[in-house]
Amino acid sequence: MASIAVSDSKIMLTLPGDAVRQIQWRFADRFDLQMLVQSARGVARGTVARLVASGERNTHEWTPGKASMMEAFDRAGVTAAFMEPEEGGFIIGPKNLALSLAAFELAWVDGGAATASLASFLALSPIHERGTPEQVNRYKTLAAPPQPGEDRIPWRGAFALTEPLPYVGVDASMLSGKVRVAEWKEGEEPILHVDKRGRFITNIAFANFVTAAVISDDPRIKGSCFVIMEETDEGIFDHGTPTKKLVHQLSSTGDPIFNLKIPASRIIGGYTIKDGVIVPNYNHGEIIDAVFRRTRVPVGIMSAAKLLSAVEPVIRYQRGRFRGAEGTKPGSVRYEQGIQQREDALHRLVDVWATGEAATSLGFATARLFDELDPIEKQKNAILKERGINGGRAELKALRESEQRAIELLSLKVDSPRRRELEADPLVQFVLKDAEANVLCPATKLWNTGHGANMLREAVSLMGGYGITEDCPGFLGNKWMDAQLEATYEGPEAVQRRQLTVTMTSEVFLAQFRAWTAEMRRIASSRPGTGACTLASAMQMWQWTLNHLQNATDPTGGKLYHGQRQGVTFALADALCWLVASRAQILDVLELEAKGPDDPVASEGLEGAVQFLSDLCHTQAAAAAGEVSRICAELVFGYNCHPSWDEEEHRNCFLASELEELEETMSGISAMAFDVLAADGTHPQKAGPCAGCAGSADFLRLQARLTACLTGSRLAKDRAAETVSKVMIPEALDYPA
Ligand SMILES: Cc1cc2nc3c(=O)[nH]c(=O)nc-3n(C[C@H](O)[C@H](O)[C@H](O)COP(=O)(O)OP(=O)(O)OC[C@H]3O[C@@H](n4cnc5c(N)ncnc54)[C@H](O)[C@@H]3O)c2cc1C
Repeated sequence: MASIAVSDSKIMLTLPGDAVRQIQWRFADRFDLQMLVQSARGVARGTVARLVASGERNTHEWTPGKASMMEAFDRAGVTAAFMEPEEGGFIIGPKNLALSLAAFELAWVDGGAATASLASFLALSPIHERGTPEQVNRYKTLAAPPQPGEDRIPWRGAFALTEPLPYVGVDASMLSGKVRVAEWKEGEEPILHVDKRGRFITNIAFANFVTAAVISDDPRIKGSCFVIMEETDEGIFDHGTPTKKLVHQLSSTGDPIFNLKIPASRIIGGYTIKDGVIVPNYNHGEIIDAVFRRTRVPVGIMSAAKLLSAVEPVIRYQRGRFRGAEGTKPGSVRYEQGIQQREDALHRLVDVWATGEAATSLGFATARLFDELDPIEKQKNAILKERGINGGRAELKALRESEQRAIELLSLKVDSPRRRELEADPLVQFVLKDAEANVLCPATKLWNTGHGANMLREAVSLMGGYGITEDCPGFLGNKWMDAQLEATYEGPEAVQRRQLTVTMTSEVFLAQFRAWTAEMRRIASSRPGTGACTLASAMQMWQWTLNHLQNATDPTGGKLYHGQRQGVTFALADALCWLVASRAQILDVLELEAKGPDDPVASEGLEGAVQFLSDLCHTQAAAAAGEVSRICAELVFGYNCHPSWDEEEHRNCFLASELEELEETMSGISAMAFDVLAADGTHPQKAGPCAGCAGSADFLRLQARLTACLTGSRLAKDRAAETVSKVMIPEALDYPA
């Protein structure tokens, strides 16, 4: 077995450190982000960890302890991470990666702490994305932490979309929150009356302002919009009672009531007046789309951080499990290795770790993509504005040509001059990145939080009874339960799946996906140990299945790939998430391998880290392939009626007497025949003659190939397990239990 074990020079000796992560997650050259990580980590492992350890999660009330956490965010620069330098911030340019890194560090210790910090940004996001310059300036400046020497308490915000049942949920187009004209004096700004009840609103206990979705209840206001309400506005600004949450107890959540008057200038993004009617420049749906497509990414990152944070406590628990027992002497295998003597314990931890790597890679890749997309989107808006196009159908039409150019680009060779021409076209760049972001954002939110929650249960189970106690190091029980909220808020899984079912069928995305499949094959030819080939085969199967289902019907002639048929579309969306996560993980390891040697810290022990992380990639790619194969097979075959043994359907079966005859000329044919009827009509004990379906031969060929592509994946898992059993960890966790 020596040839497949990890050689000593290649074994990873310590857990991947900051230098490795900075390369993998692409912020090795961003000193500002490295500083943010360090300060967020300080708050997380200091203030936040102490709050959790001292039982602050045991109350629903907003306490001075929890409030001190918000102040710690201010002092550490976490609050300012959202702001532009002129608004009191310190990061120049897009901030998606920055906010995701801060969320990662906070969630490493407690999801509620991360949410408390993100909720302030969520409240500002409608203003940041679509607000007028005056609105942006006012609220971001007020919410920025005080500068040294400034005596000011920063404003906190809350975002209120959700309403008491039966309103806003998955179908966010239905609102009961209303806006009416209260006063409108000739030549003056109209005064609006807002009547909104919120449900489950984060940050509400202490919010000074709220951004809320409302719909018109007045013929003088058109459609819906988002408005900003301030605590001191005339009327009722009732923070409401705290929600009795089972999760994220370090953040504040409650059901507020608003009934107040605001000037029309608080409509986010402004308005125009047409024929005596106030027409908001953005309806609430447009604002939600712009906000959530960015803010859902750090939520996915939170669950990913928790998975990776589980590794060290589990290793420590497993190793120390039998220490102190009579007869377990220091130096004995039982003393040193504890439960890690057992393969299953190691393999399960490898699965948790591999999922954490894939989820983190996917999340940060998506965050970086939005950093790239933000300036290109602005450029696109400027170009279209010059052409007199301001959103809506006209924009979709204008971009259609760019989409065709993008698809053409993806089909060209790397050295093609035409490729360079198309690459230089900002509209082509926009449609490419937009199509990718439209898939990767919901995929991050859905897979990281949904599958992540399942895997956090695995992590908890590895700690035995300890896992479900308050004393569990790393607060794993909390993290597991909290993950369910991450899967729910900002739109539960159905919302993400629904979005994916639309965006994953875009022609541009599918062309990109084909290019990604080819890219994985190329990677596999030089880095077979990453599982890239396994992944490419699974990607091919997914694309074949999507194409098949888009044309296939059920026995009654009903279309299979159809918005109402969530059994088909949602399952395919789930399958896709596994693929994109695995791809991101592989790309990050290649980045480490390429850039690591130039980094004085990461280069130390690099070979071992790359080997181990590649083995995790291979393990994860095999898991993804298995999941995709299962889902696709069920969808391809599952919507056909099984043939039965009746006259009509068994006519393709062999009769025993026929087989005897055929055997004389085709020796061995009997061994191939499954469905043989005896002379008296009796048949084998099974559901009916074996089923086939249109295209099944193609599918089965892909499936056979995929199965063979799993070759080596368990060897990779064995190697990873060996490393997990040997890797050094610090004596104690660096935050309290
Ligand atoms: C602690 C906490 C904090 C929150 N913070 C905020 C906040 O700050 N601001 C805010 O506005 N909201 C907030 N929310 C609300 C949160 O965003 C919603 O609870 C969430 O979007 C889910 O909506 P819902 O509760 O109405 O679930 P439902 O819509 O009732 O969903 C229930 C289940 O049915 C499924 N389902 C629903 N519709 C469909 C469909 N069409 N197809 C298939 N399946 C479907 C869902 O996937 C889910 O599994 C918070 C919630 C919590 C618990």
